[in-house]
Parts: sequence; C-alpha cells; structure tokens
Amino acid sequence: MLAIATLKLNELLAHFGYILSILMFMFGIMMMGRVKTAKNGNRLAALAMLLAVVAQLVQMGTINPLWIVIGLVIGGLIGAVASIKVQMTQMPEMVALFNGSGGLASALVAIAAYAYGGIPSQPLNRALIGGASGDVNGLAVMLSILIGCVTFTGSVIAFLKLSEKMSGKPILLPARHVINIVLGLVAIGCTVMGVWFIGGIGGTTMLVLVSLIALVLGITLVIPIGGGDMPVVISLLNSYSGIAAAMAGFALNSQVLIVSGSLVGAAGLILTMIMCKAMNRSLANVMFGGFGATDSGAGGGKSEYKNVKSADAETAAMLMADAQTMVVVPGYGMAVAQAQHAIRELAKILEARGCAVRYAIHPVAGRMPGHMNVLLAEANVPYEQLFEMDQINDDFKNTDVVLVIGANDTVNPAAKTDKTSPLYGMPVLNVEDAKAVFTIKRSLGSGFAGVKNELFECPNNYMVYGDARKVVEEIIKALKEG
Ligand code: NDP
Repeated sequence: MLAIATLKLNELLAHFGYILSILMFMFGIMMMGRVKTAKNGNRLAALAMLLAVVAQLVQMGTINPLWIVIGLVIGGLIGAVASIKVQMTQMPEMVALFNGSGGLASALVAIAAYAYGGIPSQPLNRALIGGASGDVNGLAVMLSILIGCVTFTGSVIAFLKLSEKMSGKPILLPARHVINIVLGLVAIGCTVMGVWFIGGIGGTTMLVLVSLIALVLGITLVIPIGGGDMPVVISLLNSYSGIAAAMAGFALNSQVLIVSGSLVGAAGLILTMIMCKAMNRSLANVMFGGFGATDSGAGGGKSEYKNVKSADAETAAMLMADAQTMVVVPGYGMAVAQAQHAIRELAKILEARGCAVRYAIHPVAGRMPGHMNVLLAEANVPYEQLFEMDQINDDFKNTDVVLVIGANDTVNPAAKTDKTSPLYGMPVLNVEDAKAVFTIKRSLGSGFAGVKNELFECPNNYMVYGDARKVVEEIIKALKEG
C-alpha cells in the first residue's frame, strides 16, 4: 500500500497498462492455439503491443516522446504495407524478418542500456551496474546482445534461403561443427568477461567482441541447414528472439518485456518441438544433420514405380458424383497451385449432391505450421470441416473417396512400414484405407523428404496428373456437365 502511495500517477497508470498488456499477450497466445479464435488472438496481441508502448510513454512522463511516436508510425506503416502486400506463401520469410528485427532490436536496446548506464547520474546506471543485483543485469545485457545478434544474422540467412535469394541447399563447411563449437565457446567466454568488466573499457571491448562473434555464429549455424527445414529454424529463432527480449527486459528492469519475451521464447520452443516430433526428427538432426545436402534428401530423388494407375479428371468426377463421404488431404502442392478456392467450390458442389466433405490436416503438411489451415480459411472452408490427423485417421476406412491434393510425404505409408525410409516413424494419414484415392500432382516426383511414395502403387490409388488447381477445375467442369 505504501509502495503504491509513493508511486506518481503516471507510474501507477503505466504499471496498470503493463499488467493489462501482459494479460492480453497471454490470452492472445492462448486464442492463437485454435483456428476459430486465432484471428482475434492475433488482434488482441497486437493491441497489447500498442498498449505496452503507450504505457512506456506514460511512464516516461516528462521525456519528449517524439522519437518513439515517429518510430511507432514508421514501424506501423511498414507492418501495414507488408501485411497487405506479402503473399500467404511468403509468410515464413516474413516471419524470419520479424524474428531478425526482434533480435536486432533487443541487442541494440541492450547496447543502448550499456552506454546509457555508463553515465552515473542516469537511473539506468543503477539498474545496470548498481546494487547487489548489478552482475545479474550486466549478464542480461551481454546475453541479450549475444542471443539477439545470433538471431539477427541467422534470421537473415533463413529469409534469404526461403525467398530463394540464396540456394536452399545446405552449405556444409569442412569442420563446421568445430567452427561452431569454438565460436560458441569464445562468445560465452567473452560474455562472462564482459559481465566481469562491465562499465569499464574491458567491458566495452568484450561487448564489441560478443556482438561480432554472435553475428558470425548466426550465419555459421544456419547455412548448413536446408531450405526445407527453415520453418523449424525460424520457429527456433523466434524462441531466441523472445529470450533476447526477455534479457533486454532484465537489463531495463521492464516487467512487460520480461514476460512477453518469455512467452515468445517458450511458445517458439514448444512449436519447434511439435514440428520436430511431427517430422519424427530430433532438433539436433534438423540443426546439425545437414538434411537435404544430397538429392535424395532434398526432394529431388528419382524413384522406380510399378503398376501405378492413373485417371483423368472426368473419371475422378464420375466416382466423386456417387460418393457419400469424401476427405480432402491438402499438402504443399495445394499451396503452390493456390488450389484452395477451387477445392472449396468442388466441396460445395459435392455437398449439394449429399456428400459429406471433410479435410484432414497433417501437422507438417505444407512448409510452415498451420499452412493448410490458413489457406483453407482464406477460401472460407468451415472450421468444423477441418480435422487434425488424430481425429480423422481411423475414419479413412469408412470413407468413399479421398482426394490427396499436392500432399506426398504426409500420406506415404512407407513411414509406417519401411524401417530404412527417412520418414519411418513419422505419423502419416492412413489415406490408403479408403475405398478409392485420387492423388493430384504433376508427376511421380518425390516430396520434401525425397523418397518414393508407396501410396502411388496401392491398388485403390489413382494418380491424376497435372497442376492441382487446373485438375480440380476440370473435375468441377465435368461434374457440372455430367
Ligand atoms: P510434400 O513436400 O511431401 O510434397 C508436395 C508435393 O506437391 C510434391 O510431391 C509435388 O509433386 C506436389 N506439387 C508441387 N506443386 C504442385 C502443383 N502446382 N500442383 C500439384 N502438385 C504439386 O508435401 P506434404 O505437404 O505432404 O509434406 C510436407 C513436407 O514438408 C513433410 O516432409 C514435412 O516434414 C516437411 N516440412 C514441413 C514443415 C511445416 O512446418 N509444415 C516444415 C519443414 C518441413 P509434383 O512435383 O509431382 O507435382
């Protein structure tokens, strides 16, 4: 009570704003966990961000907020333009840039805190080097710089790979593990020394060294990772950017930054683990395995197939016309072809004929978490028709027709039976259990994992060759004419 009484009004308001924004961040993230509430969760979290900035301005009180307002307007404008212009398929690379900016911002804030804290009369000096907790905050400054800089250059490489501005192939430097270990150890050593000498010339030298080494480390850690694994890397870098922000929060004594940074750090890490589990690969394998360095792992592998049946769009339409139940299984190819609107139209036609249409969503279908959900939501597919793998996998045996559209690895039965397959152990959709399966893709080419798909040889599977959108449009035409 006494503590509250001694706070000035602006500080009281600011603290209230911080607590409210922390709660809004938490609920926002919770809401993002469900397709139905995800959009509003995103809006709530964006509002929380704005509230946190405003609360900061209120707390600063007499300090001229002009620069912050200018930053807010410029940043807001860039964000608004990007959200309108960036295609859905470019989302992962945009998130990479966001993470990189977050990491860089945290590192710069920590550097500013260091420089600002060096002036004895400034309040930050107390937070940074004063009192018994001085070392803890010094550590936060150095860690924020270390993690923030790794996140920045790592994210830039992830962006370049995803946007194909550099080759997505892993760049495997000789002795890369040794290089990374040495760089990591030197960076940690400089961080410890930086904390030790903080405030003096030695501290400044260590700060510069940590920044430079961390910038290089971000590059050497990410270049050996294949472009296809970048979504996992981005999720991990997202977690890093959160940790860097939380560290900056400790350096500045800002609770809202500590909590929001920790939320991002934890959420990013959980998502990374979910993605690794769904791909049946360890995080170490993703980070250090050089997956995709050879053609067989990069999606370019050639395989021999026997007894593959094919059908044209008209035949597929004929069978669908009589189906009572159909499950659509979308994959990366649907995103490439932008076939989601055509699929929705096809579903409406079949539903009008009495067919129950559902969608089976594999957790790593496409190239980013929630990729299929986002595309299907864009085409106004009702949420109730989307089913996660565990919810629908036992129902395939009771399904008349399965339409696999641009999916490959996520429907490969070899993942269940072939111990030599890189996919072995990855949970897949049991599409082959259905009465008939139509697989739309352009060729017998492999998917991301670069392996043969045993589904194509199943007696109840029919390949319908062509671009996913064009084939679905042909099926629609045949149904309308038939
Ligand atoms: P896949 O990558 O296994 O296969 C996609 C298929 O789409 C290809 O075989 C390709 O065949 C086909 N295709 C491409 N363009 C078109 C087009 N225009 N029209 C029709 N078909 C097309 O996709 P899945 O979604 O099944 O699996 C995703 C893979 O990505 C998994 O291996 C997963 O582990 C991996 N991954 C996923 C991540 C995620 O977060 N979702 C992250 C990292 C990796 P063709 O060339 O013959 O047309």
